[in-house]
Amino acid sequence: MQLNKDELLHLSQGRGLTVIAGPTAVGKGTVVRYILEHNPEVALSVSATTRSPRPGEIDGESYFFWTMDEFDANIAAGEMLEFATVHGTNKYGTPKQPVIDAIAAGKLVLLEIDIQGARQVKAAMPEAKLVFIAPPSWNELVRRLQSRGTETPEEQARRLKSAEVELAAQSEFDHVVINDEVARCASEVLDLMKAN
Ligand code: 5GP
Repeated sequence: MQLNKDELLHLSQGRGLTVIAGPTAVGKGTVVRYILEHNPEVALSVSATTRSPRPGEIDGESYFFWTMDEFDANIAAGEMLEFATVHGTNKYGTPKQPVIDAIAAGKLVLLEIDIQGARQVKAAMPEAKLVFIAPPSWNELVRRLQSRGTETPEEQARRLKSAEVELAAQSEFDHVVINDEVARCASEVLDLMKAN
């Protein structure tokens, strides 16, 4: 019998699936890269987005960079595990097929997505673990965003507004991990991913 994608995901119930979320510039990407470099059994889901690539970002590795039409066609075809409009502008989402393939290959799968997406995954797959990465303080978060220097002041302001909302949602998560130091934070997240 051939199962369709939703049936396959439903069968896994989210076992082996960990969602990492947290406010802009908290350093999620750095923590995730650290985990991937040190743990070959972990696979990161590559998201799709309608935003433009930043310098150095590679299509198919950093994100799948899709037009709005491509993104909407994938939603209509039922190919997205979750999707959301983030920071009021662009669509971001998780294509289903690579997640199914990685779970089938026995990998621990990480999704680095926003809070709206995290809620959708938890609703569809209650066994999925939701981990919130929090900054040591609000001032430190602002400092990290400003020192990154990749967004215009208007974009920074928009992201900080989203960050306030995101920080308020951390109680919805199964675990909160403070990103005070990358290796320590990564090790705590990995322990949570491996725990039954
Ligand atoms: P950035 O533009 O800085 O790469 O990402 C902006 C936001 O989009 C981040 O908060 C990130 O967590 C979120 N994001 C990235 N990929 C996905 C995804 O596949 N789904 C959802 N819902 N959010 C995503």
